[in-house]
Amino acid sequence: MRLGVGVNIMAKINKVAKILEDSGAYKEGHFVLTSGRHSLQYVDKFMFLSRPKFVVEIAKMIKKRINKSSIDYDVIVGPTQGGSILAYELARQTGRKYFIAEKTVEGRVIKRGGEIREGTRFLIIDDIYTTGKSIDETIKAVEEFGGEVSTIFVIIDRSNKDFKDKLKEGCLYTYSGTASWMYWLYGMDLEDFEEKDCPVCKGK
Ligand SMILES: [Zn+2]
Repeated sequence: MRLGVGVNIMAKINKVAKILEDSGAYKEGHFVLTSGRHSLQYVDKFMFLSRPKFVVEIAKMIKKRINKSSIDYDVIVGPTQGGSILAYELARQTGRKYFIAEKTVEGRVIKRGGEIREGTRFLIIDDIYTTGKSIDETIKAVEEFGGEVSTIFVIIDRSNKDFKDKLKEGCLYTYSGTASWMYWLYGMDLEDFEEKDCPVCKGK
């Protein structure tokens, strides 16, 4: 699924790809990422996160997957900003409570919404998995809050990591000695380049 054909073709078979297309979140062109790398595609996640009808639809897909796989959890948590928006909607649809993993200078912390009992199982939800930093920080925040991570859901996996296999239903995710199962709704291969290797800059 390299280059621009990806989303357009996938939109016919994957509901998340369709949301990316319908919301205008998927863009093609020439982009300089915050990492400094250059890319020919870009996902502007707030194009779908800012429209409740898409957030409702995404949460519905996750709820369906939770039911299908009989996933066991007590509460939901999402890292700011996108993850917390999704956490709210999933909590609304499932009748569970949700927490927000807020960003601090040293990582993330859960500090609002009251106490939990020891061992409460958290389902983490986030929008796009790229480097895994916000997921790792959220796992740490859950543990520091006294909870356990049961499952991780990401809407889009664009990590290009070895464990990514679009045919798989999920994978084991380990961070600092904790292993949990991670699911994603849509795996994307988005290429990025060093400036010197960027096909657009090279053609100038
Ligand atoms: Zn370039």
